[in-house]
Amino acid sequence: MTNTPSSPVAASAFTALAASLRGPLLLPGEPAYEEARTVWNGMIDRRPAAIARPLGTDDVRACVRFAGEHGLTLAVKGGGHNIAGLAMPEGGLVLDMSGLRGVEVDVERRIARVQAGALLGDVDAATQQHGLAATLGFVSQTGVAGLTLGGGFGYLSRRFGWSCDTCTAMDLVTADGGLVRASDESHPELLWGLRGGGGNFGVVTQFEFRLEAVGPEILGGPIAWRAEEAGPVLDLYRQLVAEAPPELTCVLILRKAPPAPWLPADVHGKPVVVAMVCWSGDLEEGERVVAPLRSCGTPAGSALQRRTYTSQQALLDPTQPKGRRYYWKSEYLPAVEADALAIAMEHLGRVTSPHSGIIFFPIGGAIETLPADHSAVGNRDARFVLNVTGAWEQPDGDEAGMAWARGAWSDLRRFSTGGTYVNFLTEEEGDERVRAAYGGNLGRLAALKRQWDPRNLFSSTKQVFAAPPLPG
Ligand SMILES: Cc1cc2nc3c(=O)[nH]c(=O)nc-3n(C[C@H](O)[C@H](O)[C@H](O)COP(=O)(O)OP(=O)(O)OC[C@H]3O[C@@H](n4cnc5c(N)ncnc54)[C@H](O)[C@@H]3O)c2cc1C
Repeated sequence: MTNTPSSPVAASAFTALAASLRGPLLLPGEPAYEEARTVWNGMIDRRPAAIARPLGTDDVRACVRFAGEHGLTLAVKGGGHNIAGLAMPEGGLVLDMSGLRGVEVDVERRIARVQAGALLGDVDAATQQHGLAATLGFVSQTGVAGLTLGGGFGYLSRRFGWSCDTCTAMDLVTADGGLVRASDESHPELLWGLRGGGGNFGVVTQFEFRLEAVGPEILGGPIAWRAEEAGPVLDLYRQLVAEAPPELTCVLILRKAPPAPWLPADVHGKPVVVAMVCWSGDLEEGERVVAPLRSCGTPAGSALQRRTYTSQQALLDPTQPKGRRYYWKSEYLPAVEADALAIAMEHLGRVTSPHSGIIFFPIGGAIETLPADHSAVGNRDARFVLNVTGAWEQPDGDEAGMAWARGAWSDLRRFSTGGTYVNFLTEEEGDERVRAAYGGNLGRLAALKRQWDPRNLFSSTKQVFAAPPLPG
């Protein structure tokens, strides 16, 4: 039986809204609504009052005005990948942007104009035709919008910065249904806030990214060792990433081996240490830089090779399918210390699910060369993002899976910079954690919120931006 939420808005009002839109308006009870309300994290089961699928900016403006008039929380589903399910507010109005995935590449100016429903893979497919790339994340199904608005990092961030740093302009529908462009020339303070401040100031309909020459061939892929061989591998890892040029991003993953074709069957399901390499510079130099990894101990398997940049961008996709139950705990780290890795290995030994893991993402490089207040995302002192990623299939795994992730996180927290990545915060994490994500930039963000969305129509970060700024 369909559990239809009771909406404070009269059915006739939705009928009138539907008639004014070019795209469909999906209501509870319709099969398309059931599909549209799903997000990547299978733990999220929320029922908005209605889900609109805009086919253009006018549809977006009509929905923003409607939400304002009827006091509905408005959220936007870009890729639907936010772990806390922020795109799907209970009883609210959702703008599902999946009908707007266009990417236009201006080769001469080296920019891409990207619509708000595009996934990372859409951008890579369009830009790589010209040997260009935008600085985005590690999984091709993730939404460009949420990732960029919260900061964004991936294989190219050490060369070019947070994704939002490389986003040069955003077109925005504001809380009153108006249209503005945020760029260095027009509303620069708004651009500052949108670069990391999340979807708190309006609905972005188009992003403009600076592109860089990357690929089409890079040197990348995973190389794995059995956990028993971890000692020398982890020592080498620490040394390699401390000295690495920005062209190298080497993600460290501690987990049980997935049944991947590049790993022998006898290692599947066993704890392993995986280095996920991406060298995006000169290939001969890259071979020299990664040679010590190839010759360290006896790898259980490797798919580290010259490959297309687009194939690199999709390598982690099979490990993150939509619909599993996911629970993350995350911190920024100033370094990867030997003690932290030893603790992480202990927790790997106790992991309860074959899909869970502990990941160390190197950042730093270009991110830390910009001034601390360059964009709202801040946290430029961080050199790594730690993510304890709990993942399992069924609700009966919730208790053990969450306890494992919390245990690993609470033992590793002491290595944190004190900051945390806003895009990795789970549903249960409250205002204190959002404050930790923004640190000293919070007062400036709260001022922007008062200017652009004083009624808090867009409440992505709960109440933190709407609250009075912190002293200092
Ligand atoms: C498998 C996986 C891999 C990931 N990998 C990375 C990674 O490599 N690097 C990284 O930095 N992060 C990564 N993330 C985190 C990711 O950045 C966040 O989950 C982000 O919120 C996803 O964006 P989305 O558009 O898919 O989110 P959604 O769930 O669709 O939206 C998230 C939030 O953004 C708001 N929003 C969305 N679109 C708009 C818009 N057009 N205008 C205004 N507000 C909007 C929504 O209202 C909501 O509050 C990953 C997440 C997952 C699940």
